[in-house]
Amino acid sequence: MTVRDLTILGCSSQQPTRRRNHGAYLFRWNDEGLLFDPGEGTQRQFIYANVAPTCVTRIFVSHFHGDHCLGLGSMLMRLNLDKVTHPIHCYYPASEKKYFDRLRYGTIYRENINVVEHPVEEEGIVCKDDKFTIEAYYLDHGVTNLGWRIKEHDQRKFDKKKLVTLGIKGPLMQKLLSEGVIEINGEKILIDQVSYFRPGTIVAVVIDTKSCPNAFKLAENASLLLCESTYLESEKELARKYLHLTAKQAAEIAKQSGAKQLILTHYSARYANLEPFVEQARAIFPATEAADDFKIFPIPR
Ligand SMILES: [Zn+2]
Ligand SMILES: [Zn+2]
Repeated sequence: MTVRDLTILGCSSQQPTRRRNHGAYLFRWNDEGLLFDPGEGTQRQFIYANVAPTCVTRIFVSHFHGDHCLGLGSMLMRLNLDKVTHPIHCYYPASEKKYFDRLRYGTIYRENINVVEHPVEEEGIVCKDDKFTIEAYYLDHGVTNLGWRIKEHDQRKFDKKKLVTLGIKGPLMQKLLSEGVIEINGEKILIDQVSYFRPGTIVAVVIDTKSCPNAFKLAENASLLLCESTYLESEKELARKYLHLTAKQAAEIAKQSGAKQLILTHYSARYANLEPFVEQARAIFPATEAADDFKIFPIPR
């Protein structure tokens, strides 16, 4: 059974607190490890989370405010130290390459890992491979910042009862898979008659923005929306001023875009208690959870 989960490695915003580290979010999904916005101290958070950093195959940086990227250099250094042999794909806004380079080459180390950079030049699909379709759209945060939408491919699932009833197995099954049609007792059986497509899970990551149309677009029908909620309603003026969201606004995005589940994160250090975030969001979107350091959420099917 492959692991499908989201580990919260940190959930604070600009400043960490005693309990909450700078943000960092690891999706272990389809034998890959997708790491989003590795803030300062991410390497150590892996140790506390009891997850090997070597599982990371892709790193996404939404924007280059320190709380979203200061752990990038040390994560690459760590993967180098661990001598990972698989490529590490890195996605970030192309206009911000100078910051990526500074972080990547900020210290003395002999780079042996295969870092494959994917600077995102424009919105839309930035990658489509055998596992995922990855889309990126600009958010509204005062600096160049990308939100992400990751979709796994739809999977063909066979109706086992029908297969047994029709006696389809072994070489017949191979033929059905390769040709899409077989003949049994003179009757044609199409692959679609004995199978269906299970829609692939969609994950949206919307971190650091005010409410904007692209936030809704990214979250459309998402199975899981990981969304910033830096402030509570009592501080909505600060959210407006600093181009962030309140928990209520995050919930409105989840609701209006038809998302199935909302996970709040990126809390201002001023709040010790996360309960009000959940309460304010659930009033609008009941399927809300609050991220907290080392919490684990399943990636829904
Ligand atoms: Zn931030
Ligand atoms: Zn920011």
